[in-house]
Amino acid sequence: MNPSRTALIIGGGVGGLCTAIALRKLGIEATVYERAEMLGDVGAGLVVAANAIRSLRRLGLAEQTLAAGSVVTRAQIRTHDGHPLATTDMRNYETQFGAPTIAIHRAALHKVLLDALPEGAVRLGAACTRVEQDRSGVTAHFADGSEARADFLIGADGVRSVVRRQLFPSVELRYSGYTAWRSAVVSRDEAALGITSETWGRGYRFGIVRMDAERIYWFATANAKLGLTYAPAEQKALLLKIFGSWHPPIRSLLEATPAEVILHNDISDFTPLNQWSVGRITLLGDAAHATTPNMGQGACMAIESADVLGQCLAKNNEFAAAFQAYETRRKPRTAFITNQSWRIGRVAQWENALACAARNFVVKTVSAGTMEKQLSKVLGVEA
Ligand SMILES: Cc1cc2nc3c(=O)[nH]c(=O)nc-3n(C[C@H](O)[C@H](O)[C@H](O)COP(=O)(O)OP(=O)(O)OC[C@H]3O[C@@H](n4cnc5c(N)ncnc54)[C@H](O)[C@@H]3O)c2cc1C
Repeated sequence: MNPSRTALIIGGGVGGLCTAIALRKLGIEATVYERAEMLGDVGAGLVVAANAIRSLRRLGLAEQTLAAGSVVTRAQIRTHDGHPLATTDMRNYETQFGAPTIAIHRAALHKVLLDALPEGAVRLGAACTRVEQDRSGVTAHFADGSEARADFLIGADGVRSVVRRQLFPSVELRYSGYTAWRSAVVSRDEAALGITSETWGRGYRFGIVRMDAERIYWFATANAKLGLTYAPAEQKALLLKIFGSWHPPIRSLLEATPAEVILHNDISDFTPLNQWSVGRITLLGDAAHATTPNMGQGACMAIESADVLGQCLAKNNEFAAAFQAYETRRKPRTAFITNQSWRIGRVAQWENALACAARNFVVKTVSAGTMEKQLSKVLGVEA
């Protein structure tokens, strides 16, 4: 532990905030610089799986997170008419993986993380424009002309990271071919509140996740060209047109969601990087290892990376050695998730009727043993 060390963290998402908590536990004075003027209402929900809950436990955050979320008890894949293809009783895996998998509103998770940091540890309205390093430290420059200096810097500024673009300008985003919408809505529908499900059509998917006693997080995907934008009413009408005839309660969830609170993102990642660190600067979360959301593991990987970076800095007083150890431990794990999630997304977004029928047949006949093996590779691995 070296209390004299200081760190700048660019980006106040799940990755940046968890990193600040991990570093401050070591006595490192870590400050988060976030471009948004406000943190909090960051829309929709997240699944935080058992692997990330174990990391949160090491960071002293598991109890608060579990209390703010809702345990996923059953997860199901369905066809557009509601026919179940595969059902997993997640409770069976709680003991095996040492923690439950939960769903939580993003704002609730942010609150847990912010509450764990002291006043002044997060600076809002600070959009980083560039970073530079020399022999004695690293400086971040911000859009308002201000700057900040510390011993080292972590770029946790998301998939379109300014820090990564500066370190590795040749990295290009890889568009998945599908776009996604998501929102949170109050529901009293027992069918929706009781189960976490993903419904597969041909080139379309719809997911329903219970976040707490009365709130649902839903998401929808569609094969689409990159860069299409929609006015709120137009995109709600489009969603109703695509999914309105699918099984209940999909239509009622869409109808109950105000058009203005539906978030829309094209889904992109980038192929796993060979290097994350240059000198005093490293990357973390989507900035380092973005993944498509098909396994619900992007934020979980950011949480694991924060946990591991903290462990590496605890063991190595020299930040360069710590960054090297961090990369060595994290690159294989995050590359596996990025690649596997990409492959799942490709199959789940198939449009061809015969291919979809074959895919559904395979999913329906997959054995419990195979399912357990797959889950173990993701939820059972220790960060
Ligand atoms: C539809 C969808 C569903 C998903 N579902 C799940 C799920 O169920 N479970 C899961 O684990 N993951 C899920 N993910 C992935 C998850 O959202 C991301 O992996 C996670 O948010 C990454 O966290 P992060 O902190 O690395 O980046 P971000 O959450 O992107 O945070 C980056 C932060 O940096 C800030 N920033 C950006 N540029 C700058 C700058 N120049 N200066 C200062 N600040 C800056 C941004 O404002 C932002 O606050 C999903 C993603 C999508 C798109």
